[in-house]
Amino acid sequence: MTEFVLPPPAIASVAVAGSPERFAVRRIFCVGRNYAAHAREFGNDERDPPFFFTKPADAVVDSGATIPYPPLTGNLHHEIELVAAIGKPGFRIAREQALDHVWGYGVGIDLTRRDLQDEAKKMARPWDWSKAFDRSAPCGPLIPAAKSGHPQKGRIWLAVDGKVRQDADLAELIWPIADIVSICSEAVELEPGDLIFTGTPAGVGAVRAGDKMTGGVDGIGTIEITIGQPK
Ligand code: MN
Repeated sequence: MTEFVLPPPAIASVAVAGSPERFAVRRIFCVGRNYAAHAREFGNDERDPPFFFTKPADAVVDSGATIPYPPLTGNLHHEIELVAAIGKPGFRIAREQALDHVWGYGVGIDLTRRDLQDEAKKMARPWDWSKAFDRSAPCGPLIPAAKSGHPQKGRIWLAVDGKVRQDADLAELIWPIADIVSICSEAVELEPGDLIFTGTPAGVGAVRAGDKMTGGVDGIGTIEITIGQPK
């Protein structure tokens, strides 16, 4: 047995709906843009191929948590997203087989330090500091695809203090889940435990300390996250 000089870190994980068992998280991949209206609000051509960025596995946070307002930003944005949880390894997965690799689905929020992202874009710098910070990947309980099926349509929404900010339908995804899994697997060998945040619809905006975000995807689940005072 391998011995470590320090105790190894806890395994990052997300809840599973209706089960005491949790889903161990290996990596988090995120699609940069995947809804036409959101691509347009940032001035992009919706026909561009998808691109990806990553977050650390331990950026996941359970629904119900309070997240301290993160450092280095004055413009923290919510992005509600359908999350696909990979359950079977695959490299260069064909689109037709891609959904066989998805174990389940959840509802996530891709928290974004928008001011740092704007600066990174302007300076042609990496996005990491805008996307991959502590607690930047809240994710509600996963529902096994065996129960939910593989969603192709359904309302995706997010409200802040009860006021709906994002309201769209999965049918508006430029690249559906099967395409996203297939395309992602061309770049990396997907493994069980990998999460893919599949992009956000229009209506992203700022949250402040004290705000409560609630969101959901029809047939998949819901998430509720409160922003607390900064540390
Ligand atoms: Mn996003």
